[in-house]
Amino acid sequence: MKIGFIGLGNMGGPMAANLAKAGHDVTGFDMAEVSIEGVSLAGSAAEAATGADVVITMLPNGTILRAVAGEIIPAMSKGAGFVDCSTVDVESARAVAADATAAGLLPVDAPVSGGVGGAAGGTLTFMAGGSEAAFAKANPLFDIMGQKAVHCGDSGAGQAAKICNNMILGITMAGTCEAFALADKLGLDRQKMFDVVSTSSGYSWTMNAYCPAPGVGPQSPADNGYKPGFAAELMLKDLRLSQQAAEAVDADTPMGQRATELYSDFVDDEDGLGKDFSAMLPRFEKRSRG
Ligand code: NAD
Repeated sequence: MKIGFIGLGNMGGPMAANLAKAGHDVTGFDMAEVSIEGVSLAGSAAEAATGADVVITMLPNGTILRAVAGEIIPAMSKGAGFVDCSTVDVESARAVAADATAAGLLPVDAPVSGGVGGAAGGTLTFMAGGSEAAFAKANPLFDIMGQKAVHCGDSGAGQAAKICNNMILGITMAGTCEAFALADKLGLDRQKMFDVVSTSSGYSWTMNAYCPAPGVGPQSPADNGYKPGFAAELMLKDLRLSQQAAEAVDADTPMGQRATELYSDFVDDEDGLGKDFSAMLPRFEKRSRG
């Protein structure tokens, strides 16, 4: 396939490289100067999109996605796929999909889970929203860039799944960290805490697979000085998107709201910026109730 790839950053770069490695003809564009193995570079987003069977975008946010969509939709051929893999607000995803559909394109919102390691290794999970025809067009590319793609429903459903998943993740990590900090103060050994909780009803991905306590459980960013991993500021971005969505549909999400406040304090006012999101544990450890 002839593929246009716009946004060749930490995630988009390796994803585009994997498509090229699999034999696709990939033309990329990024605002920043980049060089990606196997990918030829265009002078603009519209140029990268012209004549492509599928255009993939991997951009920082919904405002930038809307601007890029405004440039590329008029340049794309009817029947082409427009696959946005960025994490953006549901409203932007739906607005872009409506414009693309009106122009005769096949849009899919397909945010990913798996991080930079998953992008490089081709093991991402895609959560996709769009028509059956649009999903079918994008699916062979998901197979190359990832290990699993779930068709979640119509346009916006992929973003909805992503932010709901990550809202649970943020809440659970905050809960796991505060419980460890409480256990410390109660004099409970961390290994014993892990042994019990990881096999009891408090178990979770954050405890069992990504334990925030160093030296306990499987290898995780906690064992590497809390170097990300999944950076606290990216967690905060997704939590803010969850609250924006909750406000738009009048959903009561008190735990999501509190997790958003915690990560906002941590990233904006404390020393969380650039640390893994599990560094909430040393944050709680340092604090007292008041
Ligand atoms: P990044 O900042 O490394 O990459 C974004 C790229 O977009 C940059 O290279 C930037 O120059 C480019 N860009 C910005 N505006 C542009 C424009 N108008 N035209 C062309 N290029 C433009 O970010 P990333 O880590 O690759 O993340 C991309 C998306 O994936 C985000 O929405 C993020 O939330 C999501 N995501 C990231 C991770 C992760 O672990 N990094 C995990 C899951 C999802």
